[in-house]
Amino acid sequence: MAQIRIENLRKEFGAFTAVESSTFNVEDGEFFMLLGPSGCGKTTTLRMMAGLELPTSGRIFIDDEEVSKKKASQRDIAFVFQMFALYPHMNVEKNIAYPLISQGMPRKQVRQRVSEVANILGIESLLKSSIRGLSGGDRQRVALGRAIVREPKAFFMDEPLGALDAEFREHMASELMSLHSRMNATTVYVTHDQLEAMQMGDKIIVMNHGVVEQFGVPQQIYDWPATMFVADFLGSPSMNFLHGNGTIASASTQVKMNETTINIPRQTETMEGEFAVGVRPEHIQLDDAASLRCAIKATEYLGTTQIVTATTEFGEVKARVASNLDVTVGAQTGLSLISDTITVFNKATGKALLSEANKAVLAHG
Ligand code: ATP
Repeated sequence: MAQIRIENLRKEFGAFTAVESSTFNVEDGEFFMLLGPSGCGKTTTLRMMAGLELPTSGRIFIDDEEVSKKKASQRDIAFVFQMFALYPHMNVEKNIAYPLISQGMPRKQVRQRVSEVANILGIESLLKSSIRGLSGGDRQRVALGRAIVREPKAFFMDEPLGALDAEFREHMASELMSLHSRMNATTVYVTHDQLEAMQMGDKIIVMNHGVVEQFGVPQQIYDWPATMFVADFLGSPSMNFLHGNGTIASASTQVKMNETTINIPRQTETMEGEFAVGVRPEHIQLDDAASLRCAIKATEYLGTTQIVTATTEFGEVKARVASNLDVTVGAQTGLSLISDTITVFNKATGKALLSEANKAVLAHG
């Protein structure tokens, strides 16, 4: 078990900065997600934490011991890659046992430990099988077995489910979660998939262009995004933005956009210029009496809900409404927004304005 502390970690490749100064903590036993689009610097961050890449500057501590310049082999961690590298000429048992044998552990102890791990992963019957004949999922389990057999302080996983098809991916995600809850081992996990991050993570860091945009528990990040990037990256469909221009005063509880007034949480900041009113699709209702007018452009039936696309004078929005609601494409109607869930963004900075509703989360984020 390990607590990991990252202080001002930065990585440059020549003139290119892959990771800007990042500071965050991974608590003991946490399932910690590094989330962001391709090229945002999450793998580089993980590789520095694991000792596979030297930081340009900044410090890494594992259980209060500084390991910034230590090699991976000196950090007592296990790394699980997207493409599992198993030894094809060895059977399952030998693959799992390999890290223990190379440490010089006595054979009897190795056998006992391998059997425990095989039991955790449900692959006891495969121990004598050859790697070549295994399905993708079983290979995955063997690779996990090889990672957990050493009982390292922490696991580092880089898109371990990335190569799997959707159905199997879901299955392996729940296996990983139950494995984690049984072992309670600190796990740092890289993914570009926001659903995977929200489903599996105790905490998430959202990165973009080498910068940590937000850090927190999934629900806080989803409900109270710190930036327009996070608001857009999380959620499917993502957060809607109604675009306006003017002054938002501290203590105001409304924004005026042309002839429409939108109620918002009490603001604690002031700004002037272009802003965006951010609202999640599930916080919009079709309401013919509402002053925010719209035309229904399309509907998409999803079984339990439907997604309604509507055009307003402030931009297009998507609302998630009950699937049995009768919605006519082309109809003119109104939209009411659940006001206490709204975040207002300053478009010049891309950042959320602090309000009475979000400041507790964002001030600590
Ligand atoms: P992906 O999921 O596509 O791997 P990522 O978020 O993990 O994306 P990184 O692999 O960390 O991103 O890469 C961040 C940036 O740093 C990218 O622009 C990448 O091209 C660059 N980069 C990574 N490794 C090197 C390297 N060894 N030399 C030069 N540039 C690099």
